Amino acid sequence: MTAVQADRNDATVGHTAAAAIDVGSDGSGGAAIDRRGGQGQSGTGDGAGRGEFDLIRRFFDRGPVRDALLGIGDDCALLAPRDPRSVLAVSTDLLLEGRHFAAGIDPVAIGHKSLAVNLSDLAAIGALPRAFTLALALPQYDEAWLSGFCTGLFALADRHRCELIGGDTTRGPRTICITVFGEVPAATALRRDGAQPGDDLWVSGTLGAAARAVEERARAVGEHARAVEEHAGVVDERTRAVEGRASVVDERARASAGQAVPSDPAGAARLDYPQPRIELGLALRHLARSAIDLSDGLLGDLAHITERSRVGAEVDWPSVPADPCLGDLPGNEQRRLALAGGDDYELLFSAAPENRTAIAAIGARLALPLTRIGRIVDGSTVRVLDARGRPLPMTIAGYDHFGTG
Ligand code: ADP
Ligand code: MG
Repeated sequence: MTAVQADRNDATVGHTAAAAIDVGSDGSGGAAIDRRGGQGQSGTGDGAGRGEFDLIRRFFDRGPVRDALLGIGDDCALLAPRDPRSVLAVSTDLLLEGRHFAAGIDPVAIGHKSLAVNLSDLAAIGALPRAFTLALALPQYDEAWLSGFCTGLFALADRHRCELIGGDTTRGPRTICITVFGEVPAATALRRDGAQPGDDLWVSGTLGAAARAVEERARAVGEHARAVEEHAGVVDERTRAVEGRASVVDERARASAGQAVPSDPAGAARLDYPQPRIELGLALRHLARSAIDLSDGLLGDLAHITERSRVGAEVDWPSVPADPCLGDLPGNEQRRLALAGGDDYELLFSAAPENRTAIAAIGARLALPLTRIGRIVDGSTVRVLDARGRPLPMTIAGYDHFGTG
């Protein structure tokens, strides 16, 4: 996750991570989860079988590994490429509660998304997913949360035959760090530095739905939090609450605020359940010259390709597949969300014009819209053009400079 995304999600959450953390009664935020058993858990409190290793066994160890040579339970996992000509593709993403997701977000969605963003990186480089590791910090042994998290995580993992082979577990502010391992023949890896002037620029799917859901959720959380804070203030005054009371109320308020539902459920689904474009990445291995996955918005991510490839680019705004859910917004808002919103997790790629038919056939086979939105050019600038080929006044960083159209 990048700083851009983190800042945006900060706004969504509207509070710092530290405020929402229960480090357990010993206050040792970094200590291992309950090697002594029972401490800090919600529930029966009998202390039996609630330790770190029990947690790993119950939730994460799913028996003998199918694909790797050695998995959970040893000091290292062992993994061999299936194809000896392939190399390992490795990527890591860190998700922190209060920064990348709000307290109170459905754990099923968190499980899905924390793996999905990693798989999306494998898709972008054209790698076949093989395995992943999971480093997890949790404030307490919360069975309901863990079971939801595992539901989302393993449903996606199984769909892509990506196996959990190890990890680390500790007590602390809720944090999820996944590292994925894929494999790809080195010669056909879809890197960011391969774009050439004359290439077509393509994008998969539609853009902007998740960004709109982020903003709607932020608005809903803001309104909800304001109402709850007013209420909490009243409660506080009436009871002259003992120390800590206010923060308990606060935490509950935040938890429910995280569940505030945006008005467009399809947009919320795009935000919470992004679908990594693995099959597309694999199919593009011999066709695309460069690729990137869209996590921070099309223009910002396109700039990564143009910088690394030392080229410029032109995007034809009328060709950009803005999500239909943006249809009720003014043109400049649609452009802002489709071009500079984030969390799309679609693939942006460049390819020689002679591959147009083959690429269209892939879109048809995968039932995934693939749209030609512009071209790679000489130079170093990225321009967005209107229907008559005139540059639209916008800058990548300029959320506020999207013109008046
Ligand atoms: P070590 O002390 O050697 O690092 P640990 O005691 O941390 O090992 O973990 C024991 C085993 O459980 C290791 O094989 C590790 O990879 C695995 N493991 C720990 N936490 C997780 C997790 N959250 N998900 C999957 N595997 C885990
Ligand atoms: Mg360890």
